[in-house]
Amino acid sequence: MKQLFLLSHQASPLYVKQAGITQQDRIVMLMPLAWDRRYAYHQFRLIFHHSVVEHFANDMTRQGYQVVIERQATLTACLSNHTPFEGTAYAVDAIDDDIRVQWQQATRDTSLTIHEWMDDAFFYLTRDDVHAWFSSQQQWKMASFYTMVRKRFDLLMDQGKPVGGKYSFDGANRKRAPKNYVSLAKEPFPHDAITTHVVHTIQQAFPTNPSSTMPFPYAVTRAQAIEAMEHFMRDQLATFGRVQDAMIQGEPFMSHSKLSLYMNNALLTPQEVVNAAIKAYSEGLAPLESVEGFVRQIVGWREYIRGVYQESMPQYKQRNTLQNNEPLPPFYWDAATSMNCLHQTIQETIDYSYNHHIQRLMILSNYANLQGVHPMELSNWFNAMYVDAHDWVVTPNVHGMGLYADGGIMSTKPYISSGNYIHKMSDYCDGCQYDPLIKEGPTACPFHKGYWDFIDRHEAVLSTNPRMRLMYKTKRS
Ligand code: SF4
Repeated sequence: MKQLFLLSHQASPLYVKQAGITQQDRIVMLMPLAWDRRYAYHQFRLIFHHSVVEHFANDMTRQGYQVVIERQATLTACLSNHTPFEGTAYAVDAIDDDIRVQWQQATRDTSLTIHEWMDDAFFYLTRDDVHAWFSSQQQWKMASFYTMVRKRFDLLMDQGKPVGGKYSFDGANRKRAPKNYVSLAKEPFPHDAITTHVVHTIQQAFPTNPSSTMPFPYAVTRAQAIEAMEHFMRDQLATFGRVQDAMIQGEPFMSHSKLSLYMNNALLTPQEVVNAAIKAYSEGLAPLESVEGFVRQIVGWREYIRGVYQESMPQYKQRNTLQNNEPLPPFYWDAATSMNCLHQTIQETIDYSYNHHIQRLMILSNYANLQGVHPMELSNWFNAMYVDAHDWVVTPNVHGMGLYADGGIMSTKPYISSGNYIHKMSDYCDGCQYDPLIKEGPTACPFHKGYWDFIDRHEAVLSTNPRMRLMYKTKRS
């Protein structure tokens, strides 16, 4: 007999097939109660994980498989109900560091031998592939990594050369949204009896966690995730590149797919998402700059940050190059701020448990960095608030890209800006009591003062940075 142990973000028939599980074997879904309280999770994140597992267990049971959902206090307690065990045990290699540590402890505590740690099938690269590339590089450059993956998997390539003559079309993207832009984001998925029950249970069990007044909107089955993917390819991919960095008040999703949620939780493979985008390009449904930009988010950025995390944890999380030590401003939890860009963005976090990448980077992380917020304060908030969060995603994005806490492993200079960037890329400033063009006085944009305070505060560390040298020289002259 075999036992397959899966966590809530691994509820996929792909693993059942990979482990060769039959109807005589057992699938054990491990749902330690303590894990629901690792962070003050937004209720949507808890609803998503629990509903996905319930649907998966229901589907597999209907197909004749034996599925048990273990809800015990700890991982050890969950495993204890299935040990000692004489047969063959399978589990999926987790990427998150704390989960790996807990697996080690729990298998020791229960004397359980996992016969095969299966590679996470929801990445292009295996753990060994990742290690081989990162350990062969002096500098971990995302562009080199992306080129390697494009070539290796023959993605958007034409006889060994990138389609369109170059690997990145980023220069054609990053624009302000046109006046007539309308987001065609997918309508929320309706709730079935399972999700209705899960919503009620989570609201009862976690009444004080961050919550929305909106209905939970996301897919919870593979069929729904495929529907979301097809909707994006048909209605949103064409405009994705053009407006991927733009922000409009009242448009939380713009042309972003939200498919990270489904790839990070085993409902869609990155291969099928990328192939669908390339197919849309070949059918003339979307321009190359949109398709390339989207493919880069997945095979470039997503795979790359997984690599940074895998190769540099746990030390990566301890780094704090800029010596940021301030607490997170309380308004990150309730959106109660007069800065309209932050108010709108955080209200969307509360409403949808989601923000798109520029809101995360250039509004939330930017402001936190200007204010000197400690990296753990912000990454704990990201881990708590976002429905698609996992530590392997959050840590490089916040500590590295967002706050430069890694000293330049991921980005050659801090991603900071005054209000000018936000004014250029959004309409937030139109409804704000501050003015991005005023530099002093009660109506001056707080991002302006924050920016120059940051520049002064970190002159010793940053003035020798080749990409910031000119700025410091100009400031002194
Ligand atoms: Fe944000 Fe400043 Fe614009 Fe207000 S004026 S929305 S604080 S960037």
